[in-house]
Amino acid sequence: MSEKGHPGGEAVQGLAVLGATGSIGVSTLKVVGLHPERFRVVALSAHQRAEELRALCLAWRPALAVIHAPEAARALARSLAVTGTEVLSGPESLERVVRDPRVTTVVCGIVGAAGLKSAWAAVAAGKRVLFANKEPLVMSGHLLMALARASGARLLPLDSEHNAVFQCLPQPRAGLAEAGVRRILLTCSGGPFRNTPASEFAAVTPEQACAHPRWSMGRKISVDSATLMNKGLELIEACRLFEVAPGQIDIVIHPQSIIHSLVEYVDGSVLAQLGNPDMRTPIAHALAFPDRIEAGVARLDLAEIGRLDFEAPDEGRFPCLRLARAAAVAGASAPTVLNAANEVAVEAFLARQLSFAAIPEVIESVLEARPVVPAESLEAVLEEDRMARECAHRVIAAHGAKGILAC
Ligand code: NAD
Ligand code: MG
Repeated sequence: MSEKGHPGGEAVQGLAVLGATGSIGVSTLKVVGLHPERFRVVALSAHQRAEELRALCLAWRPALAVIHAPEAARALARSLAVTGTEVLSGPESLERVVRDPRVTTVVCGIVGAAGLKSAWAAVAAGKRVLFANKEPLVMSGHLLMALARASGARLLPLDSEHNAVFQCLPQPRAGLAEAGVRRILLTCSGGPFRNTPASEFAAVTPEQACAHPRWSMGRKISVDSATLMNKGLELIEACRLFEVAPGQIDIVIHPQSIIHSLVEYVDGSVLAQLGNPDMRTPIAHALAFPDRIEAGVARLDLAEIGRLDFEAPDEGRFPCLRLARAAAVAGASAPTVLNAANEVAVEAFLARQLSFAAIPEVIESVLEARPVVPAESLEAVLEEDRMARECAHRVIAAHGAKGILAC
């Protein structure tokens, strides 16, 4: 695209917003709406919420829209006939959309491993890829980084912690050792059960787990934030994105969620990125990078906040942290197994088929049952994901009887 987007600026970015109806998708479109001269919405996708996708298509007039089910796509196409939006469905449609030449930038806002193939296609096609969808990075980040080097894709983190780390690192950067980085410190709010005794975890309901004290997010990541698996996944995500060993990453509980993460250098300097807990800040940063643009967020008032607290995480009450770190150290297929078992366990918890306390037990059983094998291709990762999910379903079925298990 040669079109000039704004005075002295880059060309207009053609956006594909995958998961447009979700929390990340909606926040992205709010930022985009403030800067019509910089961005054009080329494609929007949703899994099931056809009515919400229709409203977004009427507002944004994208060239392409994707919805999962063919019958929903036919109905959507009929109701969008006047807009000229082409509606796609079916297994390859997301990949087709991200490869479209009108798309320069892909916002990965799908939740879970369901976003893996479209993220791969975007990276393989050499696009600018904004990652909120952390699960593909956990499962195959080492391969995605290599793929990006080969294709020329630019990977930019939307996850607030990784975006903060990215902002605290020198750009452009060769390697963290050359940059004098000693350690990355990921902050963690502690979730809704930071002060809850473990004895009360068995009775936790999905509604309680999804009521996060600081962030408003989708249900799956809200449960992950309550078990602290979100921070475990983010530890692996950081290892992948910044190409560091798990031992170089520490986690600190910071209940106010004002410092989004920190980088410690060998001279003792520690750089932090601060802001109100609002995803529009990291989204605006990544959308405009290396420029800075208005995000529409409330300004930080430190005097009003008054104090910033920190404490060490409690791995006794939150075993998901320990399990994720062990999977990061084991490498190979272990992070894929961890992620698959977690997705299945969280789904079962949200469907009231598994207790909150049993989520880490299921994940640990699956990690023990599945051997660690090499994961050096997309196919190998997908196969391991499939086997770990089957194993997790069997573990959950056997869980009531406490009969564990060989997968
Ligand atoms: P959400 O549940 O609000 O939205 C998920 C989106 O993905 C929806 O648009 C849905 O239609 C789509 N989707 C769901 N299943 C799909 C499938 N099988 N195939 C295709 N599309 C599907 O989730 P969210 O909170 O926006 O989170 C999205 C991702 O971003 C997650 O990986 C999460 O960990 C990450 N993330 C979210 C936040 C946040 O503040 N919400 C912050 C950091 C990272
Ligand atoms: Mg995060």
